[in-house]
Amino acid sequence: MTLDDLPPLRDVLADHGLMAKKSFGQHFLLDLNITRKIARLAQVGDGDRVIEVGPGPGGLTRALLETGARVTVVEKDERFRPLLEELGTVASNLTLVMADALEADEAALADGAPAHLVSNLPYNVGTPLLIKWLTGPWRPASLTLMFQKEVADRIVARPDTSAYGRLGVIAQATCQAQLVMDVPARAFTPPPKIDSAVVRLVPRPDRPAPDRLDALQKLTAAAFGQRRKMLRASLKPLGGEDLIRAAGLDPQARAEVVDVDGFLRLADAWLARR
Ligand code: SAM
Repeated sequence: MTLDDLPPLRDVLADHGLMAKKSFGQHFLLDLNITRKIARLAQVGDGDRVIEVGPGPGGLTRALLETGARVTVVEKDERFRPLLEELGTVASNLTLVMADALEADEAALADGAPAHLVSNLPYNVGTPLLIKWLTGPWRPASLTLMFQKEVADRIVARPDTSAYGRLGVIAQATCQAQLVMDVPARAFTPPPKIDSAVVRLVPRPDRPAPDRLDALQKLTAAAFGQRRKMLRASLKPLGGEDLIRAAGLDPQARAEVVDVDGFLRLADAWLARR
């Protein structure tokens, strides 16, 4: 049997008596046209290493395997083990790891080689996983990830918009971030209450060093924690007006008008004063 001979995903779910579980954030993509489009957007191909979090019934996994990539999937829900093991028997380029992705060591999953992340992420852990991948010690080659539309909008948001905040600053300080595909709620089984979107993130060669990233996290937490306040008030405990002026910013400005470079200058000014 080859990937082409596999039965439709709906039948596979029925054969295994599997239903989506809310507690695991399960909304499945059963239309291979959509999952193939995501695999194309991820720009992965023969021999590339891919890590997919949450394969579930394996719709996106099949599309990734078809590209010839070497795909390691990390699934937390034990119910999917038999189905995914079956998929492994028709695709030698699949490696199955049953684990919680929040605790996974990505470098070990990729055998130390560069790897691309491609996932339709569970809603409940999508943001913590993204922060881990953007700020942790392991550096992905690229990230092509499905989020709730509202989270996707925050990742790519520009200054002076209501969606702009911590997530956008961290994502754009570390990566080029682009919203590449809108996916309506009806494309999923079962459909969630909200639409989704795929974001593609390509790490910047000048990704900030760990101490700069730590500083950025502290400063954005303080500044956006009180986003209606002027910076001189929200950043008072971290250095107040002197710090803000050292970064070439206006102490009377609010966090949402400061662009990513402005926050990086703030991080540098904060590190220089320590
Ligand atoms: N990739 C499949 C698709 O597109 O049809 C399923 C996507 S579904 C939104 C999220 C998947 O992530 C589910 O299979 C769920 O069991 C899995 N999952 C949830 N939390 C997880 C975690 N912490 N670590 C690994 N997998 C997780």
